[in-house]
Amino acid sequence: MTRARLAARFGSPLYVYDLDRVAAAHDDLKAALPDGVTVFFSLKANPHPEIGRALRERGARAEISSTGELDAALAAGFTGPEILYTGPGKTGGELAAALDAGVRVYSVESLTDLRNVGAAATARGVVADCLLRVNSVEAGATTSIRMTGAPSQFGIDSETLADLMPELAAVPGTRLAGVHLFSLSNAKDEQSLIAEFRHTVSTAARLRRETGMPIELLDLGGGFAAPYLTPGDRPVYGGLGAALEDMLDEHVPGWRGGAPHVAVESGRHLVGDCGELVCTVVNVKESRGRKFVILDAGINVLGGMSGLGRLLPISVGLTTDGGTDESTGGDPGETDETATLVGPLCTPGDILGRNVRLPELRPGDVVTIPNAGAYGMTASLVMFLGRPAPTEIVLAGDAIVSVSRVEFNRKYE
Ligand SMILES: *Cc1c(COP(=O)(O)O)cnc(C)c1O
Repeated sequence: MTRARLAARFGSPLYVYDLDRVAAAHDDLKAALPDGVTVFFSLKANPHPEIGRALRERGARAEISSTGELDAALAAGFTGPEILYTGPGKTGGELAAALDAGVRVYSVESLTDLRNVGAAATARGVVADCLLRVNSVEAGATTSIRMTGAPSQFGIDSETLADLMPELAAVPGTRLAGVHLFSLSNAKDEQSLIAEFRHTVSTAARLRRETGMPIELLDLGGGFAAPYLTPGDRPVYGGLGAALEDMLDEHVPGWRGGAPHVAVESGRHLVGDCGELVCTVVNVKESRGRKFVILDAGINVLGGMSGLGRLLPISVGLTTDGGTDESTGGDPGETDETATLVGPLCTPGDILGRNVRLPELRPGDVVTIPNAGAYGMTASLVMFLGRPAPTEIVLAGDAIVSVSRVEFNRKYE
């Protein structure tokens, strides 16, 4: 069914996710990794339960960081033992909910965080396996979003680990089960990704030597890339597997026998290219020589973090979908023009792109923004200005698997 027909049937704006693409992304990543490496899916990128279900069926586990993501993971079929709980500000209430759901593995970011996990576990008569998240003192390789090497709310400063180890190892209700290093998102190329993993693996091995830290589970974090809101293909990592095997053989030779067990994490790479945002041109106007194309989708449904000065899309690729009939394809050709692409919200911050090259658009045209499967809805200001959330539909091939819309409670009592 064309995107325009989907919009006619289910409304606009509309997120369309394709499970075949989720499966392909997962299988490509698995094939790029050494055998036996676990993939954690970071639900932050897209917590839709059908997406989680598809990934779980292919062997992925879940990485979550809130009770909302816990609910989504459980709705997707993940069981407690398949879930890793992360985050620098786990509250007592969240820990209680996660422990009650059977989640037993936690990434902890400080001694106090570890103690909080231990207190909640002890209150339930259970023991939580804890990965020490480490904020490495050395800068890693190249980076896009860096989260280590500097002061940070994330992780335990690596240079303090040796001194802290006796206290860390003695927290009731917890067992130190491994290490978690997550230092890179969206690596710019495969060489950067490999260099970062090399840094991570050698750091973990060095810390184990220097501090006696036990490592049953070595969570190497992520960095797997994906195109975002622009046309383009998900990278396929042809050289990563061999490089990882070499560095693991060198630094943690027991890994082939599962000691340590090795894991990676990914959000955007697994689900970025499964999704598109289908939306509609509401108005086209000129102001002082500049053209504005106003969509029914703004930072309330897409890329809302750009309003906070982050992730500002440099360009937004659009393909017209030919009114209500067959697709006319994505090649705007000679009619190309440059315009400012904005949403419908009453804020000057509701800008999806400046100087975006667009086909000639008229009110009522249905347009598609590609590669919006990760950090689409979840990175948006969905409550801002009170518009309804977009409908989300999930396809498997031509079959419609699910149609849903997040509802907000508008009753103020
Ligand atoms: C956000 C996050 C991820 C996922 O990042 P992507 O760039 O989407 O792959 C993985 N691990 C942790 C701990 C995260 O916070």
